[in-house]
Amino acid sequence: MAKVKKLIKNIRVDADRCNGCRGCEIACSAFHAEPKYSSVNPARSRIRILTHRLKDIWLPVFAGEYTPTECAGRDIYTIDGKEYEECAFCRAACPSRDMFKEPDTGLPLRCDMCEGEDEPLCVKWCLNDVLVFEQREEWVEEESEAKRQEQLDVGLESLADKYGRDKLMDAVARMNAKD
Ligand code: SF4
Ligand code: SF4
Repeated sequence: MAKVKKLIKNIRVDADRCNGCRGCEIACSAFHAEPKYSSVNPARSRIRILTHRLKDIWLPVFAGEYTPTECAGRDIYTIDGKEYEECAFCRAACPSRDMFKEPDTGLPLRCDMCEGEDEPLCVKWCLNDVLVFEQREEWVEEESEAKRQEQLDVGLESLADKYGRDKLMDAVARMNAKD
């Protein structure tokens, strides 16, 4: 299969520096408001701060893939004496929690690295340098158009099963209007 150069973007998280100010949630939700910057609602943010004051835990977590089925096996981590809850490091929008779901429709949210922006908004507005944006180029195998379409179909089918076709069509219409 042919190889193509791909730009890999990632955000390095230094969780020990986070003080839970939630500036990142505010910036992300404002950027993704409709119209842009018209409102602030952290429930719409693609980054959420998992907090546990008594344990001194402030953990930034980014929205990742949607999954239609909640997992049956979960993990508890203890790092530097702090115990992190079962779903702490998970990035998925899944049926067992409300995190990373659009509050009005329940549709899953996913971090888009603020597509089109030079620097992700959460990185820009984190004044404690918890979040550091990095980019690199990698050679990867080119995905065929058929494979891409197959993945898209599977994703849409799962969303339609979970949220109903009407809600899904409504969300797609709103996204098109945004474009
Ligand atoms: S990179 Fe952009 S979309 Fe992703 S969490 Fe940060 S502000 Fe939100
Ligand atoms: S803006 Fe930075 S310090 Fe504030 S909650 Fe987000 S990651 Fe933590």
